[in-house]
Amino acid sequence: YSATERIAAEARQPPSLAHPLGTDHLGRDVFSRVVWGTRSVLALAGLGTLLAAVLGTVLGLWSGYRGGLIDEGLMRLFDGLLAIPALLLALLLLGTVGASRLGVWLAIAILYTPIVARVVRSETLALRERAFVQMARLQGERTPYILFREILPSVLPALSVEAALRFSYAIFLVASLGFLGVGVQPPDPNWGLMVQEARTFVSLTPWALYAPAAAIALLIIGVNLTADGLKRALREPSGAEAPAPRVEKPSGAEPASPEHGREREEEPVLSVRDLTVAYARGGRWVEAVRDVSLELREGEVYGLVGESGSGKTTLALALLRALDENGAVLKGSIRFRGRELLGLGEEELRRVRGAEMSFVPQEPLAALNPSLTVGEQLAEALRLHSDLGRREAWEEAVAWLRRVRIADPERAARRYPHQLSGGQQQRVLIAMALCVGPRLLVLDEPTTGLDVTTEAAVLDLVEELIAEQGTATLYIAHDLGVVARVADRVAVLYAGELVEDAPVRGLFARPLHPYTQGLLASLPRPGRVRAGREARLPSMRGRIPAPEERPAGCVFAPRCPFAVERCFTERPPLEAAAPTPTRRVRCHLWREIADVAAKRGAPPAPAASSEERVAPPKGELRPEPVLRVEGLRVRYRVRRSLPQLLRRAPAPEVKAVNGVDLVLRRGRTLGLVGESGSGKSSIAHAL
Ligand code: SF4
Repeated sequence: YSATERIAAEARQPPSLAHPLGTDHLGRDVFSRVVWGTRSVLALAGLGTLLAAVLGTVLGLWSGYRGGLIDEGLMRLFDGLLAIPALLLALLLLGTVGASRLGVWLAIAILYTPIVARVVRSETLALRERAFVQMARLQGERTPYILFREILPSVLPALSVEAALRFSYAIFLVASLGFLGVGVQPPDPNWGLMVQEARTFVSLTPWALYAPAAAIALLIIGVNLTADGLKRALREPSGAEAPAPRVEKPSGAEPASPEHGREREEEPVLSVRDLTVAYARGGRWVEAVRDVSLELREGEVYGLVGESGSGKTTLALALLRALDENGAVLKGSIRFRGRELLGLGEEELRRVRGAEMSFVPQEPLAALNPSLTVGEQLAEALRLHSDLGRREAWEEAVAWLRRVRIADPERAARRYPHQLSGGQQQRVLIAMALCVGPRLLVLDEPTTGLDVTTEAAVLDLVEELIAEQGTATLYIAHDLGVVARVADRVAVLYAGELVEDAPVRGLFARPLHPYTQGLLASLPRPGRVRAGREARLPSMRGRIPAPEERPAGCVFAPRCPFAVERCFTERPPLEAAAPTPTRRVRCHLWREIADVAAKRGAPPAPAASSEERVAPPKGELRPEPVLRVEGLRVRYRVRRSLPQLLRRAPAPEVKAVNGVDLVLRRGRTLGLVGESGSGKSSIAHAL
């Protein structure tokens, strides 16, 4: 039937085969009108919500990412709009622009844009500081690209839920406006209008009232279920994938690098002079890095070591001009390939970053975009700084995954970061950093969190690729053992100051600064591990001072076992440690300390005593067990596939732990060691 056709003879008919939902008081078929009304409500609420979602997303992304006055102004405007009740605002708008379809669309868009924008803005605020967004900036990506390619995919789950919610509200709004006689005008069917008309005749034709009301409820339930499914699908991009493959070293020669064999440059790639970096805290500048000077040549690996809080990462971020908003370079110079970086504008800097300078951060999972496959991310990095087409970039990305020794690279390229192991994620980041053939590579503790065997494999790879490409590399680490392995030179940073700088052999054979000596003495070596307490490693007393608490004289004086009065009042200069012209040390007494060390034949132990660890209670040689585990077995059930379900096959199991016995005694510490996947965490979780 036509939705407006009146069959007078059949008015007020209850549901029947001829009229499945009966007829109304004018003889119109209720089923036809409900179906027709669906089209009307979907078109009005759907298009209005779509308009609000698009506008709100663009405004929310921009506002959250840029901040500042635009953000402030927009948020206050939205506050004003949200203070007016939705139905009242819709009536005001329709009264102004006229009751038409266009008016309803505009009303929905104006009502819901601020709400969508707020949700997107708050997600963007949280995401803009995430490592993968910072990586995108460091790769020189443009702001719109970062907003729509890097941030938007991570905002989509929240956005889809919010858009679905707005769609539900918009359905209500359209129905309410129809009920009030505004919006879609009769005789066109509209659910709100149908409810309003049927209300008068509810005792005669209740079906004419219940049918549109049920349609509204069903549509809203349907929309919400779709939103839930969408959210799940977007949060778990491909949950059905198999576990990540093991990393294997392929045999045979690797393809030659495009940068291989380029002329060695005489001039340093990076030259830093008297660099002082500070953060704004409590209305004043607090210096985190002070008067640091260093030079880095092509093909050279420069290790930067120091405890947590010594300023290593701040220095690296300053070199890349990627300090947080409250950080600034107070003085000094950073020359990259002869060009002063401190004077460069954003656009010039964007061109340098990514193409000529690359960065590998500590946390690979946080630095990779969770919403894109690793192949897409690698291909994007390649396309950003070359004129490769999509297909070539993808092929090159797969070649790079092969080159960084990821097994089955074609398959790995289609995986999301969370589906790869920690070692594989780090290899992907190394590939992203090196695939553009940078002149400078900054690695910020890239093997932190990896087990020793994976760390060794990643270090092998880094060494090989750097040597092949001739990249000047700044390798930040707190682990001196790692630095000894990969670096040509080492700079030791303490409390923001460079205290010693030397070729790696010289520094390890004859450390001059008491802090370097302390660091080396704290290095665990297998030969030193013996039973009993005398085998404890020496540790330096005290702690590194916070930037606000740095002493006036030598920054190491409060912890230095050699400190004399002068050390507390006079800041030592960084001076060349003759007779080696390439060595520098910042200590008043380095000659005397070196002489003592030379006479002893070993670096003096600066921090005499190690801190006492918790010892077993006195008199108890074999304290009572607190925990006893016998024959522990841990199994994980794997979900059955459809054919297995049909065959009623038993659910397959993964044997994580198989018959482990442990005894843990009072006051004792049990070390549980093994590679990733050996079952350590399963034991811990089971306990
Ligand atoms: Fe120790 Fe003094 Fe040298 Fe500083 S200057 S490291 S306090 S001896």
